Amino acid sequence: MADDSTDASAVETARTQLDRALDYIDIPEGIVEELREPHKVHRVSVPIERDDGGRDVFVGYRSQHNNVRGPYKGGIRYQSDVDVGECIGLSMWMTWKCAVMDLPFGGGKGGIAVDPSDLSEAEYERLTRRFTEEIGEFVGPKRDVVAPDMGTDAQTMAWIMDEYSKETDETTPGVATGKPPVVGGSYGRAKAPGRSVATIAREAFDYYDRDLDGATVAVQGFGSVGANAASLLEEWGADVVAVSDVDGGIRDPDGLDIEAVKEAGDETNLVGDYDAPETVENGDLLTLDVDLLVPAAVGNALTSENADDVRAAVIVEGANGPTTITADDVFAERGIPVIPDILANAGGVTVSYFEWLQDINRRTWSEERVNDELEAEMTDAWDAVVSAYEDNDDATWREAAYVVALDRVTDAHEARGF
Ligand code: GLU
Repeated sequence: MADDSTDASAVETARTQLDRALDYIDIPEGIVEELREPHKVHRVSVPIERDDGGRDVFVGYRSQHNNVRGPYKGGIRYQSDVDVGECIGLSMWMTWKCAVMDLPFGGGKGGIAVDPSDLSEAEYERLTRRFTEEIGEFVGPKRDVVAPDMGTDAQTMAWIMDEYSKETDETTPGVATGKPPVVGGSYGRAKAPGRSVATIAREAFDYYDRDLDGATVAVQGFGSVGANAASLLEEWGADVVAVSDVDGGIRDPDGLDIEAVKEAGDETNLVGDYDAPETVENGDLLTLDVDLLVPAAVGNALTSENADDVRAAVIVEGANGPTTITADDVFAERGIPVIPDILANAGGVTVSYFEWLQDINRRTWSEERVNDELEAEMTDAWDAVVSAYEDNDDATWREAAYVVALDRVTDAHEARGF
């Protein structure tokens, strides 16, 4: 049984979720065994020279969970507590995420155990280039395609693409997605995870006959996922009544002006000095009486400690792994639908796929085309998950999404004859 706490291990949570989904789908035992483990896990040392002439060595990882449907795919995170279990768990979620979206990719995830705020920009760049050198032999557009995650962004991806291209002596934009458009990035990529969260929330509200217009929303995390989801939900008529960053949040029962919040914030203080009538602690934001709760900050935000106090009608996961196994059980018992990360925030990897296609074809899509195609992919995936949800009595939305993903991954394993 997975641990239930704010530091529950992603790999244990991912394995328990897999085991639970197996109640609803029959998969040959050999394939299950394979899916419980990553194909490969790379651990590399990343030494860098500090600006003061000193030297430090960081540890980096890349977990390659499964590539039966296509190259491994997934983000790179820079965070002090990155470890091998976290990378494995997150790489499993990427396999399911790409399969739910029916993208021709498998699952990977990597990272470096480093607090990026301890690095100067020059040190950050050296670290990224050295990490790329270390992982260079096992990533690539047809092998394993990296992307941004926590602590990394479009600039990080540009440096990875540049370093990899230098090493291979070929301009290779397809090794990384989430790049700036000027070096083969896609328009709409940065906003895509937030856009998919909002789109899936809209579909879920429709499913439950709830009106998004006038619905109250609380968003934990005002990074790219949370802030962009909040903007779109506001645009679609919802009242975003609370948002927070790592230092705490702001609240206005009449609805915040999200564009003004964005303008008031900066890189370290995301909710900034926006003049809100009330402040709210991060933990209290999760238990506000709202129609929609979007945990879009970190893993293990919803645990047995707070699940009983959550008063939202619907939860849509913006972060990866924000709900522990025990919290999931509490929500299932209390009848609060939890629309899972592997569907809701999948807009990021879906536009990564569009970016990869644009890189192969050396042809740029307009932001409008990206958003239209994303809308179509998200609603197709939603419909597939709804069918699985309705076909499987008492399955949760997470289990339904797993059924869709596992079905596709298993079919690929069987067709390839592994
Ligand atoms: N890091 C993002 C995620 O967890 C994006 C992955 C990608 O685009 O490959 O979904």
